[in-house]
Amino acid sequence: MTEERLQRINCPKCQQMMTQITVDDGIVVDRCSNCGGLFLDVFEKEYLAKAKQRAIDIDLETGRDAGATDEIHVISCPRDQSRMIHIQALENHKVGIETCTICGAVFLDAGELKQLTRKSLLDKLKSVLN
Ligand SMILES: [Zn+2]
Ligand SMILES: [Zn+2]
Repeated sequence: MTEERLQRINCPKCQQMMTQITVDDGIVVDRCSNCGGLFLDVFEKEYLAKAKQRAIDIDLETGRDAGATDEIHVISCPRDQSRMIHIQALENHKVGIETCTICGAVFLDAGELKQLTRKSLLDKLKSVLN
């Protein structure tokens, strides 16, 4: 992967430095140790849609500020600083996702990846992309 891939980012919600988790060869997901939020670049999102079990493994479901940060809907993409937009998953309206219209990255609050995975993550992410 490129150098950019290795660049560490701050959580767009609580500004803590995110931890990079290696899910598989070349797949590194950023997770916030404070709120448990996950930041997925486009290719990671596609990968996790296929590998549901891994998606479940990396989602802690709880974070210190989980719930509190759920209310924060105005955030900037840590990669390109553009405003991320808040959208709700079609069939599970409790799940709100922040997505970047510039680079296609997605930010998920703690537990949201699991909630989406329980249904069909791939379908949900497709609906997010459209
Ligand atoms: Zn955070
Ligand atoms: Zn972006």
